[in-house]
Amino acid sequence: MNKKIRKEDALYYHSKGRPGKIQVIPTKETSTQRDLSLAYSPGVAEPCLEIADNVENAYQYTAKGNLVAVISNGTAVLGLGDIGPEASKPVMEGKGLLFKIYADIDVFDIELNTKDVDEFVRTVKILEPTFGGVNLEDIKAPECFDIEARLKKELNIPVMHDDQHGTAIISAAAMLNALVLVDKKIEDIRVVVSGAGASAVSCTKLYLSLGASPKNIAMFDTKGHIHNGRTDLSDMKKQFATDKAYESLEEAMVGADLFLGLSTANIVSKEMVKSMAKDPIVLAMANPNPEIPYPDAVEAREDVIMATGRSDYPNQVNNVLGFPYIFRGALDVRATEINEEMKLAAVHALADLAKKPVPDIVNLAYNETNIVFGKNYIIPKPVDPRLLTTVAPAVAKAAIETGVARKVITDWDAYEQELSS
Ligand code: NAP
Ligand code: MG
Repeated sequence: MNKKIRKEDALYYHSKGRPGKIQVIPTKETSTQRDLSLAYSPGVAEPCLEIADNVENAYQYTAKGNLVAVISNGTAVLGLGDIGPEASKPVMEGKGLLFKIYADIDVFDIELNTKDVDEFVRTVKILEPTFGGVNLEDIKAPECFDIEARLKKELNIPVMHDDQHGTAIISAAAMLNALVLVDKKIEDIRVVVSGAGASAVSCTKLYLSLGASPKNIAMFDTKGHIHNGRTDLSDMKKQFATDKAYESLEEAMVGADLFLGLSTANIVSKEMVKSMAKDPIVLAMANPNPEIPYPDAVEAREDVIMATGRSDYPNQVNNVLGFPYIFRGALDVRATEINEEMKLAAVHALADLAKKPVPDIVNLAYNETNIVFGKNYIIPKPVDPRLLTTVAPAVAKAAIETGVARKVITDWDAYEQELSS
């Protein structure tokens, strides 16, 4: 555990007062008998009938449109692994808390006691009427791929597995900005990916759609390089197999421009970083300990641009930069899905935001005076209030442009104002 956080402090934080981190609060007045007759019987029958007439009216008369289900079965929780649904609940409540404070989205966290893909899919499918969107969370690979793909197909509300796409979106923004700084083109770079799980697969797919060349990508799992000579590959991994076969990660790292780590701690040495091309980019995101410690990587090379998943070093690839605002934008136009264009819009909005002058409030929060776009600041900071007013509209616009919005926003200034109020 992070040295600054003590076990007893964490346990006390979660148990003090009302246990847990979230609660339900009424949004209407409830002080008189009349209020209650409106809130419940007999008044409640009127919105019921309106919705029975047209289910879309649920967005007008219920909390559906601002309510996201954070759903897990606890099989791949943070760095903790398969700890079961109950044990995943603090994480899911935490996710609810972040949705609320960053984007004013309400969350019901739902922990499912099943590892069966069909049962999981069926359960979420029948929960659809309650929610405006579904954030799948901490479900292990390869089941998570199938679960998300099927739910996306079967549900008419946005579904996103954040461990896959959130990470892909934030790291892609970091990667694009790092490429700007080192003046390299994504089409030309050689990429080494360590990991072939939920996040590595999704990141690599997104980098491909941003222009990376399949022949320039070498992906590794626990058995080594993923190449066409291997007979043990899942269909998911086969997509990344190349004819060229590397003997080792070490060999593949020689001359590479980008290392993308979504595997496990301490598998990259200083020597390996030294062997990379000029101005190498190292996104070492295994949590809590990256593929190479931050101090080692920057000691190995002066010219390295380094990002990790940690908050105690520069360039934290933190999913909280994405999911609150991606869902905010999707919900606000009642999108039927979160499609590739919406994800790419989030990537570019995040990347562009990091290039803009940083407001005082962000400098203050980090005890800095002059955070500027550069090697140590390639992605926005989580406390940046402009995230809401840039990423959410970008996602909403992309939804409208790609025809998946059921509600259209025309006055974008008014929308941004509404978001920031
Ligand atoms: P996952 O689905 O379990 O995938 C892990 C992958 O890493 C598997 O493909 C596994 O290979 C591979 N792997 C494990 N040890 C390896 C080694 N020594 N060499 C090469 N490959 C190895 O997990 P995930 O959800 O993608 O997460 C992976 C890591 O990234 C975790 O540490 C997670 O905390 C971190 N992560 C960080 C962020 C962030 O910072 N924002 C976001 C998401 C994930 P096999 O396929 O052979 O088992
Ligand atoms: Mg997660």
